[in-house]
Order: sequence, then C-alpha cells, then structure tokens
Amino acid sequence: MACSSSTCQSGCYKNDGGFLGQKKNEDSNGLSAPHSDFGRQIICAKCKVNEAVTGGAGGGEDSQFCAECFRYSLYGKFRFAVTSNSMISPSDKVLVAFSGGPSSRVALQFVHEMQQKAQKNLDASRNKALPVFGVGVAFVDESLAHPIPSDEMKNAIEHIKAIVSDLAPPTMELLVTPIEGIYSDSGHGKDTLKELLDAVSDDTGKEDLLLHIRMLSLQKIAIRNGYNKLVLGSCTSRIARHVLSATVKGKGYSLPADTQYIDARWEIPVLLPLCDCLAQELTTLCQIDGLSPYDWAEIIFDRAD
Ligand SMILES: [Zn+2]
Repeated sequence: MACSSSTCQSGCYKNDGGFLGQKKNEDSNGLSAPHSDFGRQIICAKCKVNEAVTGGAGGGEDSQFCAECFRYSLYGKFRFAVTSNSMISPSDKVLVAFSGGPSSRVALQFVHEMQQKAQKNLDASRNKALPVFGVGVAFVDESLAHPIPSDEMKNAIEHIKAIVSDLAPPTMELLVTPIEGIYSDSGHGKDTLKELLDAVSDDTGKEDLLLHIRMLSLQKIAIRNGYNKLVLGSCTSRIARHVLSATVKGKGYSLPADTQYIDARWEIPVLLPLCDCLAQELTTLCQIDGLSPYDWAEIIFDRAD
C-alpha cells in the first residue's frame, strides 16, 4: 500500500514535506514557508497573491505554491489520472486500501471529495440519471507479521475509525480484516501464515511475500463485499523505488504492468490515482489540511531500531 503501507521499509514516512536546497522557516503548525537565498518571502507562482508555503514538484521558485494552490494542483493531478484513464464510473463500488499513512490518507480524502462532487452534480441535475459511485475503506491488520503490541494496533484502528466516520456523509463502510483472513480456515490461518512467513529467511523475500499476501487480502475483502475497483495510494516515490528494486531482481518483464494507472491483472482492477504525486507532496498536504495520518514509522521503524 504504497508509502502509506504499514510495512514500507523505505523510511519515506520520515520525510516532513520539505524540499532540499530551500531555506525554511517553520510556522506554528509545523509548516515551513520557503524563502529565497536573500531571505525575502516567495509569492505563490500560481495565484501571484498569497505567500508560498510549500514547493511543488521541481523545487524552484516557479513551483512554490500557497496552501490553496498547492492543494488545487495536487487534486488536479489526482482528478486528471482518474478522468483521463476512466478509472471510476458512476455505477462503480470503490474500495480504498487504507493504512492510515499519508498516501492512503490523501487517496481516501480525494476519492471522498470526488464522490461528494458527484453527489452535488446529481442533486443539481434534473433527470437524476447517473448514480453516484460507492466508496468503502479496507484496513488490513498486519500485526501477525510485525511486532506491534495489541494496544497500539487497537489505537491505530480507533484512529482509522475516527478518520472514516469524520468523512461522512455519506457513511462509509470500514472493513478491518486481519491478514491471516486470506485463509478460509480462520482457526488455523494464523499459524499457517506465520509458518509461511518464517520459512522465508531473507528480508527482501519476506517483504515481497507480504506485499503479495496483502494484495490477496484486499482482493478477497473487495470480492466478498461487492466492490469492483480497488484504489491504492501508491505515489511516484513508491513506484520509483519499485522500479529500481524490480529491475535489480530481474523482474523487467512484468515491470510495465506494475506501473500502470490501472492494473487489470487482478480480478478486482487496481487503481493508482496518485501515481503522479510525490510522497513529499502528499505528506505536505496532510500537514496543510490537518489530515493527521497515523505514524506507523514511529511504531514499526523506531521499535526495530
Ligand atoms: Zn496561490
């Protein structure tokens, strides 16, 4: 699940949205307004009115945006990916894979906003011909694969429940499933999956296996609950890392299919509407909008240190 994944080993959670080479002054919200080399404030490159608070992709003064324009620009990338690839149709039921991290937090927010806009259009239309697509949220509890204490996982799930309920209306279904749920025999699923993971000795192989099992789990949740599209929060940074690692592993044959906007190899097609956004941009948006992603890095990576 992209850099939003609870198992992402890249440390991308630890990025705080800044761009290298810029001088920053942090305000009380932790946001850092870019300044030029001469200490003057930089004006938003888009609206030319407001003070820039953050940089878009590129990092030069031409890509410094105020909060409003930055948000508009990021949502524009998402919307363009969705509409130009016909990702979501009115009759769809879309399941958002949500870890609580910055990327999937933004994916959920944007899908919700797109749904709300579709609802407004429906309310304003005369014939009410087109339905509004449905949205649900899936969280895969991977505590079997990671040393996460049960009380911390409980806190994470409560945090995720609060996020999802705050997005209403319309009320969204939240499906929380343990990763061992891929086995139909839930009684022995835990032991069977643990044995399987323990049988893989190298960390990279284990990470790849877990990624595959996570996707199988999400597919199963979607199929069981009548969803026909699965949205992941995979961003450019995550995909770039995948390109490098897959190349090293000799997976060049399947690589182009891994980086598509829509991966139709799965029974439930997998959508990547944020694949044109950087991890830094998504983290920054979470700061600007107060989206409060769950800090898995603090729990998993710091515990591993
Ligand atoms: Zn602006």
